[in-house]
Amino acid sequence: MKYKCTNCNKILETEEILYLCPECEPQNSPASPLKGVLETIYEYETISEKFSQIEQNQYVDLLPLNNSFNIPNVSIGNTPIYEYEFGQFDEFATLFVKDETKNPTFSVKDRIAALVSAVAKDYAKDTIVLATDGNLGVSFASVCAAQQQNLIVYVPNFVSENLKTQMKIFGAKLIEVEGDFRKALDLSIVAADTNGWYNGNYVYNSVTIESVKTVAYEIFSQFLGNLPERIFIPVGNGLVVSGLYRGFEDLLKLKFIEKIPIIVAIQPTGANNLIVNIDTEKAEFSKVQTIAKETEVHLPTNFYMAKNYIKKYNGEILEIEEDEISRGTLVFSRMSGILADFSTSLAFGGFMTYFNQDILDNNSKNLILLSGSGYADISQIQELDLL
Ligand SMILES: [Zn+2]
Repeated sequence: MKYKCTNCNKILETEEILYLCPECEPQNSPASPLKGVLETIYEYETISEKFSQIEQNQYVDLLPLNNSFNIPNVSIGNTPIYEYEFGQFDEFATLFVKDETKNPTFSVKDRIAALVSAVAKDYAKDTIVLATDGNLGVSFASVCAAQQQNLIVYVPNFVSENLKTQMKIFGAKLIEVEGDFRKALDLSIVAADTNGWYNGNYVYNSVTIESVKTVAYEIFSQFLGNLPERIFIPVGNGLVVSGLYRGFEDLLKLKFIEKIPIIVAIQPTGANNLIVNIDTEKAEFSKVQTIAKETEVHLPTNFYMAKNYIKKYNGEILEIEEDEISRGTLVFSRMSGILADFSTSLAFGGFMTYFNQDILDNNSKNLILLSGSGYADISQIQELDLL
């Protein structure tokens, strides 16, 4: 496999497992985003197949996988898209919603677990370890059960019983950590090194970023190449936004598309660490709080890669107030019959803001990911007293 370091641009080539750039990794400290995050390099010139052939082969040509044999035998990805119309006459816009809740644990994160698990099998690793304070652990627990792999999860002790129960059902071994996510992350990295386990930590392992690319490929396929103008994406640690950009960039390099859609990176005003630092020379991160828990990130692990992509492809940024997120939940549920998580409400709030402020062209096509389900933890909605 061939990689490029996103910080020093060094090209690295190895058949061994490689997580971070060896030259940049020593610069890492608990107070800053990860340095040395790797981008996988593909030989685009030799991938001459038509898109339909790449698609039939489960995108293996564009993934860090040797073959499709180790992909879990459960339905992950190939999710449907729904269409909703807004406004009328010369103020008309279409919103497409890609429904990632059709994955086994109702989350786009099942794609991450599926690819990491398959790559671990490629390297003949039967134990995966990672740290999580959210539902990524549930995705991994489900996939590892399907793949008969062992899963060790380091969780900060504030993680809810709801999430811990979901992980335990699938047989994951949980190790509770006194402290924050970063403490859990550091302990899980040491455990991976010491025990020879496969390190499935998001961003730290470039496979996690590659996994989200398939969303971009599917969008290309479902829109028959005629992509939406804007895609509204909530940003927390920066992994999903970078993964989407990587997918569209592949399509650009393969000359299947001429232009990447405008990606609107959205954060709640209470958790805007990427947005406030997008133009600063020296990034400074502060404690954050929001109901959209997926974006409640004090230190965006994938800050550098996400920022570089947004800059390179003229992405847009938008902040949304907390009450717009909760209002978005009600409007979206009552318009679609679907109970989405607050991250989806954040993306929906972003689309509605653009629509109401007449930023969108007439007849524009827009897309959001229905990235997670409100049913994963209904207590979050009950606590808000919306009803
Ligand atoms: Zn480097």
